[in-house]
Amino acid sequence: MLHLKHQPNKCMEETGIKPNHASITALGITHGKAHWNLSPEQLAEIAVDAGQATMTSSGALAIDTGEFTGRSPKDKFIVKDEITADSVWWNNFNIPFDRTKFDRLYNKVIAYLNNKEFYVRDAYACADERYRMNLRVVTEYAWSNLFAYNMFLRPSQDELKEFNHEWLIICAPGFKANPTEDGTRQHNFSIIDFSKKIILIGGSGYTGEIKKGVFSALNFILPQTKNVFAMHCSANIGKDNDTAIFFGLSGTGKTTLSADPDRKLIGDDEHGWTADNTVFNFEGGCYAKTIDLTEEKEPDIFKAITKGALLENIVFKKGTNEVDFADGARTENTRVSYPIQHIKNIVTPSIGHHPKNIFFLTCDAYGVLPPISKLTPGQAAFHFISGYTAKVAGTEAGITEPAMTFSTCFGAPFMPLHPTKYAEMLSSKIKEAKVNVWMVNTGWSGGEYGVGKRMSLKHTRALIRAALNGELNKVIYENHEVFGVAMPLHCPDVPAEILNPRNTWADKEAYDRKAVYLAEAFNKNFTRYAEFANEEILAGAPHLKEHA
Ligand code: ATP
Ligand code: MN
Repeated sequence: MLHLKHQPNKCMEETGIKPNHASITALGITHGKAHWNLSPEQLAEIAVDAGQATMTSSGALAIDTGEFTGRSPKDKFIVKDEITADSVWWNNFNIPFDRTKFDRLYNKVIAYLNNKEFYVRDAYACADERYRMNLRVVTEYAWSNLFAYNMFLRPSQDELKEFNHEWLIICAPGFKANPTEDGTRQHNFSIIDFSKKIILIGGSGYTGEIKKGVFSALNFILPQTKNVFAMHCSANIGKDNDTAIFFGLSGTGKTTLSADPDRKLIGDDEHGWTADNTVFNFEGGCYAKTIDLTEEKEPDIFKAITKGALLENIVFKKGTNEVDFADGARTENTRVSYPIQHIKNIVTPSIGHHPKNIFFLTCDAYGVLPPISKLTPGQAAFHFISGYTAKVAGTEAGITEPAMTFSTCFGAPFMPLHPTKYAEMLSSKIKEAKVNVWMVNTGWSGGEYGVGKRMSLKHTRALIRAALNGELNKVIYENHEVFGVAMPLHCPDVPAEILNPRNTWADKEAYDRKAVYLAEAFNKNFTRYAEFANEEILAGAPHLKEHA
């Protein structure tokens, strides 16, 4: 391994730790300055010196991601070629990109990086060595490189010596595409090329594009070629070695609820479930939302925000470098990334046995779904394919109607294959491993958004705890009138009257109307998948009485 200290050759200057067989010119970049595998401290210093980052009072670094403070699903493409043409489920999230145009755009991005200073990170995905995917991440900015360091698995010094990459990720936020010439929708893009194993990101500095690009690639590769069920979920392990996984769309609580002082964290967002029934994390770090974060409510995440952590788009308390977590002026999607070791209670490597309990998290801003309910296998498949959540539309004045989302497998933007592929894997694994499946509403209670309020985190945690330790096996259940799911009548540390949501609404008829309204939306959405569903799954759908 070369420990480089400003080694100028004619055209390319290189610093840092470079694997023995690595070459930057092999990627097409011939001139400039490449910084290889710098330490987090070095990257932080460069970002601060460049005026792109601020050191916060907790020792974490804070940056601004620029124009984009969230992912841009409409600008995510997959190169359509012999590998993908017939296997990708082409839709609004999996948008085809022309091979010739991709090759040209790649060359343009390389030309853009030429003569610049840039950063190279060698890392890997998949904690289970059998599925390891070696990544080389080339970034225009030092802080994007720090993100890659935090989020992917970090090779040991020995591994780095002989590191060869399989996939290449290029992240050039300053490069702007020309849509008419380049075949993009607008100036930013994130494109996966499965043949050349490249993820090309331009025009957006939002770091989530890097992690979700790799996730999307794995969601295509693992189920098809390795018989691994790829999942958008968090995972942790209890004292009895029992694994729990938590599916859910953005903002439903995967990261928050998996950080549990009584359970060891496997990972907070992306996992694989293998044919021999283990669950492994794809990543080496966590990416937590920080809006309204408090030490009291989320102590593990709060304490993880120290030296090495990277905060995004946060606002400081006036005149200080102390973060004001309550301030969403820049975006509601304020974030922090950190290596998973920042969480005290973790398993190493990030692998567990097959899950005993599966939670579907939904943030139902209509206040219709019960705080917790138990699902039959048919209901589980129905809700997995539906992938429902409803969030409040925003913080602007006057917006009172929640935004309903149905996103297959609780992660449609990251799933290149048809949902039935993932759903079949889930169904057979649930039956094989005899897993309990629960639906948890982390959203509204006591009325819909504007009337009721968000479920208290304390109660949600107590419900999950009771499901995990078996206490919910000892209680009586009643079925929800419309959704048919089984609601426990009692749960330790939770007031019984909130367990059936209808009880929490002052206006019961309004509740019934809203429940029917939501059920109709579920059933309408499901018509797209009905042809693939068997009797059992169809029986898992909400039941609407005629003329209801
Ligand atoms: P992403 O896929 O975008 O990472 P996520 O599913 O990991 O999303 P979290 O980061 O866990 O989502 O976000 C859940 C947010 O909701 C947190 O900010 C948390 O504080 C807040 N919250 C409020 N009440 C609850 C509750 N009852 N259960 C879970 N989260 C809650
Ligand atoms: Mn998360």
